[in-house]
Amino acid sequence: MRAKLKYYSLILICLLATAELFAQKSQTFEFDDNKDKVIDNIFRYVDGALVEHLNDRNYDQKYDYKMQVKGNITRIEADNDFDGKFDRLEIISNKGTSSQYQLYDINDGKKKLIVDREISNLDHRETLSNESNIKCSYENFLRGLEGVDDFIDNFDPIISRIGGGVFEFTPGVQIHKSCLDNLGDEKFPRMLRNSLDKGLSCLSDLASQDKDKSMKGEISNLLNFFNIQLSGKVNPTKFICHNKDYNWSNGVVGYASTSEAEIKSLGIKHPFVSLNPKMEKSFFGGIKNGPSTDELEGVMFHEMIHNFGYRHGTGVDTSYGCEACCFGNDKAKKYACNICVGKYKDEMDSAYIRDMALMSKESGLVSAELFLYNNIERIPVNQENIESFFIGLATRGPGVLQEFKKQMEQKGYKIRETSETKELIRDAKNYRPINSFIAKVSEAYARALVTSFVDKEPSKAKTALRMQITSKSLFEIADENARDSQFAAKLGRGIRMLEELL
Ligand SMILES: [Zn+2]
Repeated sequence: MRAKLKYYSLILICLLATAELFAQKSQTFEFDDNKDKVIDNIFRYVDGALVEHLNDRNYDQKYDYKMQVKGNITRIEADNDFDGKFDRLEIISNKGTSSQYQLYDINDGKKKLIVDREISNLDHRETLSNESNIKCSYENFLRGLEGVDDFIDNFDPIISRIGGGVFEFTPGVQIHKSCLDNLGDEKFPRMLRNSLDKGLSCLSDLASQDKDKSMKGEISNLLNFFNIQLSGKVNPTKFICHNKDYNWSNGVVGYASTSEAEIKSLGIKHPFVSLNPKMEKSFFGGIKNGPSTDELEGVMFHEMIHNFGYRHGTGVDTSYGCEACCFGNDKAKKYACNICVGKYKDEMDSAYIRDMALMSKESGLVSAELFLYNNIERIPVNQENIESFFIGLATRGPGVLQEFKKQMEQKGYKIRETSETKELIRDAKNYRPINSFIAKVSEAYARALVTSFVDKEPSKAKTALRMQITSKSLFEIADENARDSQFAAKLGRGIRMLEELL
């Protein structure tokens, strides 16, 4: 009998062990975003990765946002008019380094495909320094630290080695040895600390200033994501400065994984942030081959936001919005913070398009251009959007502005002089091209935009543009270091975006 009992218990132990082996570790994080003692935001993780997100954004105790990951497919349904029926469906199919993105409108139960294109699973970020002449005055966010959440108050990272060349910085965030080697044992952790401190204090302040409790913005989700990440209970974000097999050309500062990406040579999987390995600590305490320390801290925060799945070109641009809100200059801040809080109907909301355009104009970030080119077929041609488009082109310089205005007028559309457009209209009016070649390129650039935006024919525009000029030939001209090389490089970067996005 005893022997038999022993035998059965052995089987039981074996069964339990097998179950343990195959059981996936499931974790659920629940939040009450408006503090009314009712759960309104649920995140479910399996084996450290997000598999489900349910969100009640207008607090009517019905989930109006539902995200689910099954294998390679992410499905996002949203009810943006809160009538109890989903009116928007996004399907992201992971294909390795990229994903296929599909967006459907749902009307009376009928699905209509409105976007179908490939998007990258990695998201790179270039330095601002050659894109903008604006000197950024960074505000010290630490001065308004009272009233921020516990996780910031208790934030005192001690670096400890956990093997494989990886160190724990704080639960949920790890540093690869290469970042300490390149940017300094003291400097790199200090930058990472500043990045999280500034970024998180800023987000908490922003959320607490938002008095409208009838509807929540994206910022609630973002804070919850950081909260979950820094609990150390899900897959940690890894910072790496050793990714030598990536193409780091054209001043790329870093990139982040937004999906199941992997750096095979290092055995590092999503989520990770990879910084340009050519950046080094300089003798005078700055950064060699990279942006300023302040800008890099902003970029690091921006990349961490991507790790939660936020991308450019699909939906509201939370990464750029929150970076420019928390790390940017004062003029851009107003618009950037609106974007970071994220209370829009959807990304086609004219108020969102205007905020994007003004944020880019004031910060030098190319986020508005990325948005406009990515969504050019869908953006309604109305007076407000036409002027937002004009403002959003400020980053491409007065030559393109001048041509765009002229060609829009030929089509019968006027760009009115308002407090937001006045300065740009003046710059466009006073602009004289440096030579006839640059004038021709600006003309072709604006033609491609007008054909895509007004006529809604981006493929026709792209073909016509390619017949006239390519980004490659512009970069070759830029390399000659002649008088027009700066203009050629600026136009070349813009044309590269059009080549990729139209
Ligand atoms: Zn980015």
